[in-house]
Amino acid sequence: MGMKNDCPPAGILDVYTIICYNVNMQQKRAYKYRFYPTDEQKQVLARTFGCARFVYNWALRQKTDAFYQDKQRLSYKDLSESLTLLKQQHTYRWLSEVSSVPLQQALRHLEKAFLHFFEGRAKYPTFKKKRHRQSATYTSNAFKWDGASLILAKMTEPLDMVWSRPLPDGATPSSVTITKDCADRYFVSLLVEEDIKRLEPVEQSVGADLGVKEFVILSTGETVGNPKFFQKDEKKLAKAQRRHERSKKGSKNRIKARKKVARIHARIADRRRDFLHQLSTRLIRENQTICVESLQVKNMVKNHCLAKAISDVGWSEFVSQLEYKAEWYGRNLVKIDKWYPSPKRCFDCGHLLETLSLDVRSWTCPECGVIHDRDLNAARNIHAVGLTVFEACGEAVRPGRAKVRSGKLR
Ligand SMILES: [Zn+2]
Repeated sequence: MGMKNDCPPAGILDVYTIICYNVNMQQKRAYKYRFYPTDEQKQVLARTFGCARFVYNWALRQKTDAFYQDKQRLSYKDLSESLTLLKQQHTYRWLSEVSSVPLQQALRHLEKAFLHFFEGRAKYPTFKKKRHRQSATYTSNAFKWDGASLILAKMTEPLDMVWSRPLPDGATPSSVTITKDCADRYFVSLLVEEDIKRLEPVEQSVGADLGVKEFVILSTGETVGNPKFFQKDEKKLAKAQRRHERSKKGSKNRIKARKKVARIHARIADRRRDFLHQLSTRLIRENQTICVESLQVKNMVKNHCLAKAISDVGWSEFVSQLEYKAEWYGRNLVKIDKWYPSPKRCFDCGHLLETLSLDVRSWTCPECGVIHDRDLNAARNIHAVGLTVFEACGEAVRPGRAKVRSGKLR
């Protein structure tokens, strides 16, 4: 539930979001496992991925056309009805060869993508491509689960899953999502409801900012860099990419080279995710309130520097991890919008610089003479502003999952 709020002005802060969770509740949590499909399962999945992708792209086209041509907004229900009609046409009979559930779910995913777009959290949805990651979601009416094995619709055998961690006792998945990544690895993600034990409240709070050189800088002065193996991986990736570019188009070597690039990409993504999970879990454990800058999509689009763009992607993933972990463990997260001038404001006296270019690592405040490390000063400002906002508005936040948004606070 979002609510307008008239908090006292907090300096030049314009927009903020507080996420405050203080009620014990069941949470949905996804458990992801690798699995090795049989040839038959591979074929069923390939067809299902293809049909789900087709439906997603078809619906995206319908929605876009309806909007531009007729200024109409098609709902999930509208699209679901036209999908039923589409499947009855002779030309599209092949859509009925796969389970209908993942096709309906593709419409749901599109609906969600549009919701994120309208909330300003994502770009306009784009067409899904065959070469990219493939996925299909099955709800409980399209799979059989007996507590130990999983059989999907249109399949006869259970999936051969690698149980890398146990499911909670008695957990029954409400939906399962199958993905195939670009390195041709298959994963199944089981969504289950469970009671997550909340952490004991602590006094400590922290501000965190995306560093220019390091990944993150905390208001305590601690920096956490990207692990060294990222650089090594990136070198390997560059080498594999060069080999791919040099290989002859249409040749077997080219396909091999492309798979190699995909495998390295997948490994980098896995390692990055692990790194972010470790960091977000630690911050959640150690602090009651965490203040961060949220990353506005428009800033991401403007960014031309590749390295920065990559760490930006990491940052938005990091913030979303903090968000759901705050919810799980009963912590507070205050998100400050990116354009709050946290690097340019002197933490000690509040003096505001007119400009501060990205390459300036430290600066001296013309007002009070304090020498600032650029990133640390920013993290401290984020911490201070976050706490101010939280103390002023936090009590107005209702128990449970509550977000407070405010337009202008000038
Ligand atoms: Zn100053």
